[in-house]
Amino acid sequence: MAQREVKLCLLGDSGVGKSSIVVRFVTDTFRQSLESTIGASFMTKRLNVDGTTYVFQIWDTAGQEKYRSLAPMYYRGSAAAIIVYDVTRETSFQSVKMWIQELKKNGSPNIVLAIAGNKNDLDDLREIDQKDAKEYADQIGAIFVETSALTALNVPELFMSIAKKLPSEDP
Ligand code: GDP
Ligand code: MG
Repeated sequence: MAQREVKLCLLGDSGVGKSSIVVRFVTDTFRQSLESTIGASFMTKRLNVDGTTYVFQIWDTAGQEKYRSLAPMYYRGSAAAIIVYDVTRETSFQSVKMWIQELKKNGSPNIVLAIAGNKNDLDDLREIDQKDAKEYADQIGAIFVETSALTALNVPELFMSIAKKLPSEDP
């Protein structure tokens, strides 16, 4: 089977569930208390999509302000970026817009962008309408899904959509 390596990074506020999404995708588990990420952590995961094995090389960054200046090291050269917010936290959605602006300015021009509204399981605490977030994502040409690292909703699907949207490789 054809194999393709995909460098990918996750960005977004601290506590939105970036590490939990990665752990769910890579090991299909969930832990209530993950240690908060220091700097960034790296994991790989293989996924078969339409006859190709995608080897995701995943950089999970820390969301804290003090690490903000490190982000370009991870998104530069990334084929895809997942910007995560927490559907129960309005401020985390504002940060998505900030990241998108930064990526449009400084990221690679053909980077595949995906926005993930995580913690979909906490619907009664919701502050961000799915419809509004989807509209924003459509405007900027990004993939959009709501996810839950807790219930596993849409987690593999998120990576599958990214694989399908990657520009075809040079011959
Ligand atoms: P990060 O700082 O963005 O990497 O966030 P973490 O993955 O460390 O998660 C922060 C907190 O949110 C932890 O207590 C997680 O257990 C919790 N969490 C992450 N994803 C979900 C989710 O989908 N649903 C719920 N209810 N909690 C989640
Ligand atoms: Mg983390």
